Amino acid sequence: MKILSLNVILLIACASSEKVRFDNYSLYKIFPQNEQQVSVLQDLYNKETQYDFWNHPTMSAEYVNVLSSPLDRSRLESFLNKTDIKFFITIANVQEIIDRQTVANYTRNNIRSMSWNRYYNLDNINAWLEDLKDAYPNIVTLITGGQSYEGRAIKGIKLSHGSGRRAIFIEGGIHSREWISPATVCYIINELLTSDDRETKAAATDFDWYIFPVVNPDGYVWSHEVDRMWRKNRRPFGSEFGVDLNRNWNSNWLVAGSTSNPASNNFAGLGPFSEPESRSLSAYLRTIGDQIDLYLSFHSHGHLLLLPFGNTTEPLANYWDAINIGKRAMGALSVRYGTNYATGNIAEAIYLATGGSIDWVKEHLNVPLVYCYELRDDGTYGFLLPEEQILPNNEEVMDSLLELIHQAKRFGYMSNAPHLKASLMTLVALILAFVF
Ligand SMILES: [Zn+2]
Repeated sequence: MKILSLNVILLIACASSEKVRFDNYSLYKIFPQNEQQVSVLQDLYNKETQYDFWNHPTMSAEYVNVLSSPLDRSRLESFLNKTDIKFFITIANVQEIIDRQTVANYTRNNIRSMSWNRYYNLDNINAWLEDLKDAYPNIVTLITGGQSYEGRAIKGIKLSHGSGRRAIFIEGGIHSREWISPATVCYIINELLTSDDRETKAAATDFDWYIFPVVNPDGYVWSHEVDRMWRKNRRPFGSEFGVDLNRNWNSNWLVAGSTSNPASNNFAGLGPFSEPESRSLSAYLRTIGDQIDLYLSFHSHGHLLLLPFGNTTEPLANYWDAINIGKRAMGALSVRYGTNYATGNIAEAIYLATGGSIDWVKEHLNVPLVYCYELRDDGTYGFLLPEEQILPNNEEVMDSLLELIHQAKRFGYMSNAPHLKASLMTLVALILAFVF
């Protein structure tokens, strides 16, 4: 009977493209207390594929979120009781929460109608980007970062106030069910274009910003139209679908935290960069790699700021600077609403996982500062973060981003803003004029 669960239901839905329903599916928050309990949960994760683990059981994880069908609930609970692992149910009926997440419609040609208490689908986000280009023709350029398996363009925008600036690159929505990621990225764009705050305006004008809210467009559309819990892209493999695009980059590919099983949510693909999304985006990145000072990737959930690498806990490259800058930024993030993020490299903060975008960017493009945010929440709603948390999430992230830039400058990174260079040149010219 257990087979008649998530996978089969998903298959039926994939074949017919009818919306997958999660009636009486429950979200568990599970608290392993010691190595033995972590190990039995890892066993469950590896062997019992009917459970959808939203994060990995490790000693560093405070909790593990598991989604269970109503059919499998009693088996899961008796297993947890037998192994003496504490747990509670955070959402009894996941479908109820999904039904509440009504997706808003953005009104074309009214950029102010993008609100921060609703999630938007791909068409809405792309229409908004186009309207921004019309509203800010001297600052905004539409850019294409590549193409998806199903032929959709990976659309983004470049914000630039002139030539000669160093770049900040932002990537969102690589895991399609993490809807808060594109919502955060869109908010950052909006702040950079419309805020009156002095520091935000300086950040907007000092750098060229390359921003892609949804780099897995096929998966995002599928998550909106068919299966809210979809994570991967949509390439078919027999009866299975999708590659985890954040395990497909050519950096220690398939070494850890990923599998060669197409049925898995962590399927790494048939080879490094086998997927058009990761391959084309990386090719785009190569064209501007030497300009990028800061690279940010947005995921959910878990209140974490991660940095490379995912294959080792060794403090490689400029680990200590990156950690110090990151921790200060997370201090700023906590001020507004008291949300506490932990900072660490992927391997130490979550688990060994390779083939992700940030590792490739650090390894192959040598970008000085590279981070991945695991946004709200703390495992209560997980990927189903309620709309009323979008704005506070976005505000605290924006606070942290400004502090990240501030601290990066203090630590000697990102210090060559053009207006500083210009003032320095003026000063030198004045001195020369005075002397001679
Ligand atoms: Zn993710």
